[in-house]
Amino acid sequence: MTNGTVYLIGAGPGDPRLLTVGGMEALRIADVVVYDRLAHPSLLDYAPAGAERVYVGKQADKHAMTQDNINALLADRAGAGKTVARLKGGDPFVFGRGGEEAEYLRDRDIPFVVLPGVTSAIAAPAYAGIPVTHRDAASSFAVITGHERDDRRESGTRTAGEAEGRRRWDKIAYAGDTLLFLMGVENLDEITSQLMAHGRAPETPVALVRWGTWAGKQETLVSTLGEVVEKVRAAKFQAPAVTIVGEVVRLREKLRWFDRGPLAGKRIVVTRAREQASEFAALLRAAGAEPVEFPLIQIVPPADGYEALDTAIIRIGSYDWLCFTSAPAVQAFCARLTAANKDARALATAQIAAVGAATSEALRARGFVADFLPSEATGAGLGRELPGSIGFSNILVLRAQDGDTGLLDALAAREATTDAVVAYENVLDGAGADDVRARLTAGTIDAVTFTSSSTVKNFVTALGDTPLPPSVAVACIGPSTARTAEELLGRAPDVTALEPSVAGLMDALAGFWASTVSE
Ligand code: SAH
Repeated sequence: MTNGTVYLIGAGPGDPRLLTVGGMEALRIADVVVYDRLAHPSLLDYAPAGAERVYVGKQADKHAMTQDNINALLADRAGAGKTVARLKGGDPFVFGRGGEEAEYLRDRDIPFVVLPGVTSAIAAPAYAGIPVTHRDAASSFAVITGHERDDRRESGTRTAGEAEGRRRWDKIAYAGDTLLFLMGVENLDEITSQLMAHGRAPETPVALVRWGTWAGKQETLVSTLGEVVEKVRAAKFQAPAVTIVGEVVRLREKLRWFDRGPLAGKRIVVTRAREQASEFAALLRAAGAEPVEFPLIQIVPPADGYEALDTAIIRIGSYDWLCFTSAPAVQAFCARLTAANKDARALATAQIAAVGAATSEALRARGFVADFLPSEATGAGLGRELPGSIGFSNILVLRAQDGDTGLLDALAAREATTDAVVAYENVLDGAGADDVRARLTAGTIDAVTFTSSSTVKNFVTALGDTPLPPSVAVACIGPSTARTAEELLGRAPDVTALEPSVAGLMDALAGFWASTVSE
């Protein structure tokens, strides 16, 4: 059996967008993913569903897997011919013991690839608005472990002086204009007093950035060498944090960005179908919020196994209008059209209507341009506004099982001849319900968003009796979703998007928080 390759991947400091393209590609082909707590859990989504996922970091109640066991695990899986993704926080060769893992693999002739990552030493300061160098303030920086003894004892690379616990503080104090300590929170007392004892002024600015780049978790404390220990103690500020010592810290006042803006740090539940690309989550992340993804709906074929849809497709030339009520309806229709060996030409005689922007986008992505979009983006709006002599028209409506009946009612009122075809079914997918329930109870959710009536229904079903705390904002994509929310949650939504799209929903949330007084 030939050995599989081990990819030593820098996962970046937290924000999942800071994974490299190479890291993402390696995850996509992994049979096994070995990860620890400083790698963002959503990165695991890149790995194939069937890949083995092994957590080797510290948990509150358990100890970390030892380095020996991690090494053995990597060698074992690679020895079985598997492709192994070893995800390590930040950069694998910056205090990550990636060097030791690579040595172990080389000794056993196991091939490995190193994919460097964005180190927290630079990224955590950057997300706090602190550049590690600046023409006016620092022309060098040094990255230093705050935990030398433990670190070296295991790897056996201590020098004689260090064996007695004596670090060369005279050198460290001037190793760079900016000093960046990792793993330094516990030893902060020693670090700061040694730096001062070796000549760094007590007024030197110091910042600690905790959970840097993690939306909703990043915290920054600014002080001076002389006072920081007391301040950290008073604030009960804890690891993991990067400690920054130097004049560059002063730039934060002007350059602070990540924790600014109405969505910064907000923890927002995104209810969606499992299959839907999480464009919304990406938008929220870009605005500094933490999307808490809660897939609620699984889109499955209709109960009749597409019989009605396939029949409609055979008669497609007899319709004057094709009305699409959602993006999944577009998707199912196009898939069945292809399955019937037909293409866009089959639709040449029909006009196409879409209920709203997302549906029309889904059409456009498949090469169709909607002829009509109603000004009110609801089924009822489409039914009322559809232009022409509707009473003489043959209309095909493509919809979800249990979808909103507004369109059909409005068309019936206009005496149209309508074939309503169920193109797909939404079924409950409660994966992740425990996590969301725990976070709601712990008060670490700021808003829950709904993008359709069925997400509201499924949210209520999936969460059972867990109440939605009043402090959690309810945000809906449009008026009909808002009505369902009011009905099933027993409270009017705090936010309804003006324009029914995820971008509109984001704007509405930003407006909501900008208008509420925050701490
Ligand atoms: N290889 C990692 C460092 C591993 S050592 C890297 O390149 O970033 C672990 C230490 O890294 C922690 O004790 C803390 O000092 C720092 N660290 C890692 N991620 C961090 C984050 N998101 N915010 C602040 N510090 C972080």
